[in-house]
Amino acid sequence: MIAPGAFDADLHCHSHVSDGILAPAEVVRRAHAAGVRLHALTDHDELAGIPEAAAEARRLGMAFVAGVEISVSWGGETIHVVGLRVDPHKPTLIEGLARTRAGRDARAREMGAQLERAGVPDAYAGALKHVGNPALISRTHFARHIVDSGICADVSEVFRHYLSEGRPGFVPHRWAALGEAVGWIRGAGGVAILAHPGRYRLDEGRLWALMDEFRQAGGEGIEVVSGSHTPDQYRRFAGHAREFGFLASRGSDFHAPGESRVDFGGLPPLPDSVVPVWRDWPEAATVARSRRDGRLQTEPATGQDTA
Ligand code: AMP
Ligand code: MN
Ligand code: MN
Ligand code: MN
Repeated sequence: MIAPGAFDADLHCHSHVSDGILAPAEVVRRAHAAGVRLHALTDHDELAGIPEAAAEARRLGMAFVAGVEISVSWGGETIHVVGLRVDPHKPTLIEGLARTRAGRDARAREMGAQLERAGVPDAYAGALKHVGNPALISRTHFARHIVDSGICADVSEVFRHYLSEGRPGFVPHRWAALGEAVGWIRGAGGVAILAHPGRYRLDEGRLWALMDEFRQAGGEGIEVVSGSHTPDQYRRFAGHAREFGFLASRGSDFHAPGESRVDFGGLPPLPDSVVPVWRDWPEAATVARSRRDGRLQTEPATGQDTA
């Protein structure tokens, strides 16, 4: 059994294919340079960055699995479901993601109109300037435009004042259903993970209901150590993972240098009390083996140095 903290596994991040700012290969290089040894790119509702990221990981000799973060509507809230180790060529997954993306542009135009009424000039055109992939225009792109315009100091201030539910630029949207998203992931051979459960505005009872429904739909894991969680939440969700029999995942949710709270290499390992989602993955066994071999090679040299 590979210990949860045996190596740095980061299984949640974004490139400019969705709302990150780096190209997929740059994201992979940054992760590798920070010490990540098992990696997944998980762009929102889109797999287009996977071939470039996988090729770069291969070049660097870093274990990589294909991922995606699907936007879901559940009980009036937006929930994110991460799919890991998916086959990116599976038509049901590809078509499901295309349907999930479809309403984004109309939503963004409406957000632009509302933000202009709230005093943000050229909001839609400004957001578009930050977009790497127009089909994936998101609130993050509006946030970067509003920061650039000098209206707010940083992205999190924009979310507080303009883009969270109840604020002037928030436009409700209907995403995929929970069961659909899990079904697409499983149909593509992947593992469905409930992303950053600590971020949803759900009381304990509704969070419980969400995790129960997620598990019944075929969801197999939750993020425990996440860039969106506090250390208290690592402990809390490790407990939930044990109670529900969920696998545990770990990821920075990196979007852009200096913008996300946590960068690659900045998270603690998973607690020993949980079962890592990568426990039975051949990619993880490869990392563990190469680290063992690496230690065998360097140990005698270290011994000579100190002798
Ligand atoms: P969208 O899919 O267009 O609703 O945008 C959601 C994205 O906005 C998330 O994936 C995050 O990257 C970002 N986001 C949401 N809430 C916040 C927040 N409070 N601070 C910073 N970024 C946020
Ligand atoms: Mn995002
Ligand atoms: Mn998310
Ligand atoms: Mn994310």
